[in-house]
Amino acid sequence: MSSSTAITNIATLVTNDPSLGDNSPLGLVQDAAVVIDGDQVVWAGESRKAPATDNRVDAGGRAVLPGFVDSHSHLVFAGDRTQEFNARMSGRAYSAGGIRTTVAATRAATDAELEANLTRYLDEALRQGTTTFETKSGYGLTTEDEARALRIAAAHTDEVTYLGAHIVSPDFADDPAAYVALVTGEMLDACAPYARWIDVFCEKGAFDGDQARAVLTAGRAKGLHPRIHANQLSYGPGVQLAVELDAASADHCTHLTDADVDALAGSRTVATLLPGAEFSTRAEWPDARRLLDAGATVALSTDCNPGSSFTSSVPFCIALAVREMGMTPDEAVWSATAGGARALRRDDIGRLAPGARADLLLLNAPSHVHLAYRPGVPLVTGVWRRGVRVV
Ligand SMILES: [Zn+2]
Repeated sequence: MSSSTAITNIATLVTNDPSLGDNSPLGLVQDAAVVIDGDQVVWAGESRKAPATDNRVDAGGRAVLPGFVDSHSHLVFAGDRTQEFNARMSGRAYSAGGIRTTVAATRAATDAELEANLTRYLDEALRQGTTTFETKSGYGLTTEDEARALRIAAAHTDEVTYLGAHIVSPDFADDPAAYVALVTGEMLDACAPYARWIDVFCEKGAFDGDQARAVLTAGRAKGLHPRIHANQLSYGPGVQLAVELDAASADHCTHLTDADVDALAGSRTVATLLPGAEFSTRAEWPDARRLLDAGATVALSTDCNPGSSFTSSVPFCIALAVREMGMTPDEAVWSATAGGARALRRDDIGRLAPGARADLLLLNAPSHVHLAYRPGVPLVTGVWRRGVRVV
């Protein structure tokens, strides 16, 4: 039998439900309480109106938010790319080819090594408030290695993405068409049972628009839903393709034409911005303000991977988004919680309202604004996942 717990004395509660709070998108409630029962939120509102419960936790005048939803990461890998990062910070430009280094290390690793690495970064993310994460294959690039990556990931999350089309496998350097045939054929058949999503890196040096379309439509025919790495390093067809195929998310969105912005704004496709990548490659920031002003839905995620964004910290991405991408603190917090949930087409997470999953975090600060106001400070001091306190 479950027992109910009230978290009371919350200075600022972010519900992401405008009807519960101040009618802002964050649905803020001051002097608030949240009641959880089992793995669900059953009540949220002003403390003085809270129902009686079996247990009580005093938040001590601090802020409570929905757990972060990190809707874009690459955590099944081995090795690291310290030398590449060091070289790049010494003046060399980033190109998609660096992925090959991680492919070689990942292929050479045992299942146990890959899983130990994955859980290490998941624990790291959890301590920083991430209660839901998506993760991808893409460092195996053989049928066996891609399926193995997805099988390992699927033991830790429901949000698993098949990214056999990360780059053209080095084994097919002279025949990219044959690699696309593999990714959309035998490799897809082996991977589809473990994945919910299919993804492709649509970029010069990776896959062009026609190849990306072939990958995503083949995945869709096998019951996988599309998402796409789009318009990261250059302008290209990725965003338009995402919207045309009703992809849940177009990720990166750094180089956008006005037509790309309009297409996103008129669609259900979320623009997922990954500022850790621009930070770690000294690249131009995506313009979140332009997307938001046009009416697009924006998510913020880490893109955690050993090559171009080796951070598991959503709070760090929030701080970057506010400082460098024109987002307000409220917008950035919404995008890292409710926005991430939208990018995964989920409505049970990313909000704290009756019926939502009891995934929440306690900040050692009176307000969510401190996530941007106090960059680099480990403010997350408590995490509940499915109603159980895990940090
Ligand atoms: Zn990525």
